[in-house]
Amino acid sequence: MATANAFDDPAFARADERIETARETALELLEELVRIPSVNPPGDHYLECALLLAERLRELDFEPHTIEVPAHELERLGLPGDRPRPSVIAALEPDKPGEEPLPTLHFHGHYDVVPAHAPSLFELSVQDDLAYGRGTADMKGGLVAMLLACSALRPLRNRLRGRVLLSLVPDEETGGDAGTAHLFRTGVLADGGLGMLMPEPTGTSVWNGNRGAFSLLLTVRGKSAHVAVQHQGRNAFEGLLELGGMLEELKQEIEARTFSTPTPGLEGPPSILLLGGVCRGGVNFNLVPSEAQFSIDRRFHPDESSATVVRELEGIFRRFRRRGWKLDVEWLQRGDASLTPAQSPFGRELATVIDSVTGRETPFSLCPGILETRYFLHHGIPAVAYGPGELEHSHQPDEHVSITRILEVARIYARMAWRMVGPDAGEHTEDE
Ligand SMILES: [Zn+2]
Repeated sequence: MATANAFDDPAFARADERIETARETALELLEELVRIPSVNPPGDHYLECALLLAERLRELDFEPHTIEVPAHELERLGLPGDRPRPSVIAALEPDKPGEEPLPTLHFHGHYDVVPAHAPSLFELSVQDDLAYGRGTADMKGGLVAMLLACSALRPLRNRLRGRVLLSLVPDEETGGDAGTAHLFRTGVLADGGLGMLMPEPTGTSVWNGNRGAFSLLLTVRGKSAHVAVQHQGRNAFEGLLELGGMLEELKQEIEARTFSTPTPGLEGPPSILLLGGVCRGGVNFNLVPSEAQFSIDRRFHPDESSATVVRELEGIFRRFRRRGWKLDVEWLQRGDASLTPAQSPFGRELATVIDSVTGRETPFSLCPGILETRYFLHHGIPAVAYGPGELEHSHQPDEHVSITRILEVARIYARMAWRMVGPDAGEHTEDE
C-alpha cells in the first residue's frame, strides 16, 4: 500500500538515518526534560522547562520564540499571577520563505506533566529499552521525537515547499486555557494548515478524535428550617431529586442514540451522561437542607454539536426553574468533541507513512479522554494524536516509554513532514 519513493531521496535517507542513530541524544534530552518537575496542577517549573526547550532548539539552529501569557490574562482565567505559563514556538522552514504564507504542518505538544507519586520519578532511570520517569509517556518522550524529526530535517530546510511549526505548550492537563487556547486567541496559531500531529501516548493506534466533555456543578437552593417546622423551609434535596429525575430521563434518551460516524475504541454507549459524580448537601438529619449540589458530566459524540448539547441541558434547567426552584450552574469543564476521519486525506497520509516505517496497519480510534486536537479542528486544521508512549503507562508510578519507539515515531514525524511540505508535496495522489 505504501509508496516510499519520496523517502529514497539521498538527502532524506540521511536524515532518516540521523534519527535512527540518535538514541544517545534522545536519552540525554529526555533525561533533562524529566528532571524538571513541570507539574500541573499547579503549574510548577514551567519557565525552567520552556527555557530548556528553547535553548535546545537554539542549539539545533532554530530561532524559537517564547510566548508569555500577560498578567491580566492570567487574572481573567483565574490563574495565579506569579506562575508564568510560557509556550515555545519554532519553525522549520526555508531560509527565505518569501512573501506568501507557507503551507503549515503543525507539530504540537505539551510539556506539563501530572503530579508524581514520589520525587524519584523526576530522575530518569533506564532498563534495557525502557526509560522510566514522570512524563516519559505523556509526553516528554513524544516531544523528544518531534525535536529529533525537526533537527534531522533542518539541513534540508531549503528544499521545503512549506514549513513545520512546532508549538510546545503548558497547561494541557488542566484544559489548555493558558496554553493552546491562548496561542489561538492571540493569533500565534491561526486558521488553516495542512494538519497537526501531537504525541499523546496512543500506543500503536492513532487517536483521530475525542468525545466532547461538558462538566457542570449544579446547586439547588432552598431554605433551611428545623424538622419540627419544616413547612417554613424549602427542602433543596427534594429539588435535587426533581432535577435529577429530569436529567435521568435525558440520560436514557442520550444513551440510546446511535450515530453514523463509527467510533472504534469506545466502550458502551457512544454518547453518555454521568449524574452525581459529586453529590453533597445538608448539615444534619434534623434540618431541612438549604442547599443540595451534584455534578453532571456529559460526554458527547463528535456527530453531536456543542450547541445542541448545551441547548438540551439548558432546556432542562429552564423547566426546573419554572417550577419555582433556584438553581446555580457552574461550568467545571467545557471541551468540544473533535474528529478527523481516518479516511480523510490527512488520516490516509499518516496511515501510509506509519506503514512505511512499521510495516503495520494502524488502527484509528477515539481517545478515551479529551484531546487538544479540538482546538485545531475548530480552526479548520485536521488533527490527530500519535505518539511513542502508551496510555496504560501514563500518569502511573511506573510511567515509561520505549526508546526504540521514540526513534520510530520521530522517523514517522519526519516522513510526514517530508510528504506534506517536502519538495514533492502535493504531487502524490491520496489513494496510492
Ligand atoms: Zn498528554
